[in-house]
Amino acid sequence: MAFSMHWHDADAEGACRRVHGDVYGGSHDAAGMRSVMTAHSVKSRLRQLLSILQKTYPDAHCALNFTTPLELLIATILSAQCTDIRVNLVTPTLFQKYRTAADYVAADPKELARDIQSTGFYRQKASTIQRCCAALVQQHNGSVPDTMGALVGLPGVGRKTANVVLGNAFGRPQGIAVDTHVQRLARRLGLTTELIPDKIEQELLVLVPRKGWTLFSHLLISHGRAVCKARVPQCDTCPVRHLCPSIHPEGSE
Ligand code: SF4
Repeated sequence: MAFSMHWHDADAEGACRRVHGDVYGGSHDAAGMRSVMTAHSVKSRLRQLLSILQKTYPDAHCALNFTTPLELLIATILSAQCTDIRVNLVTPTLFQKYRTAADYVAADPKELARDIQSTGFYRQKASTIQRCCAALVQQHNGSVPDTMGALVGLPGVGRKTANVVLGNAFGRPQGIAVDTHVQRLARRLGLTTELIPDKIEQELLVLVPRKGWTLFSHLLISHGRAVCKARVPQCDTCPVRHLCPSIHPEGSE
């Protein structure tokens, strides 16, 4: 999915308040004007960044395999502290065995833990899955809800998981999923100075057009995995190095 961006002054003013925390009264305020210009330049740079990343990662998509919202919800819970590749190795058998939320609730906790053991933290994850599925059964007739409010009300479901499910399983993004890659890259690329995922998300929501929210995460995750790695970013070969304020000439942090 390709998306284009349309910037408006109102967007820019919102962005500068969010990004820089400036409070200003009017268009004649010098600090305010500087902030608006900065917001414009951040958005202009972001537009170029995303254009390049879309060409570099044309197949960027959710790396977790799923066919239903419930499967994606379970896979996302399993992906905590685990690679998507590892989760995808476990889920085919798991999804065959447990087809509904009620199936997870009825499972023997030890058996469910064994079924997901290789994803790590398996006892905790099994407990989370069972509590989450119990809430689905009790409050939503076993279905996964499609609103942010209902999803974050489920045990073990935070905004990141809710955003993944809403954007990828329902195609109705209500936010931007901020995982460890998005967190790292948004900061390195100068899109935020925040540290906390929820605050980073709020800043990104002002900068990124709504229709691109889901793809935005996939593009940053793809780039984070391939080039802008946590420990040693490959700045020398990075296709967006000319747009990045954190370029490391020697390829190290
Ligand atoms: S230039 Fe370096 S720090 Fe910036 S996005 Fe590329 S790899 Fe990451």
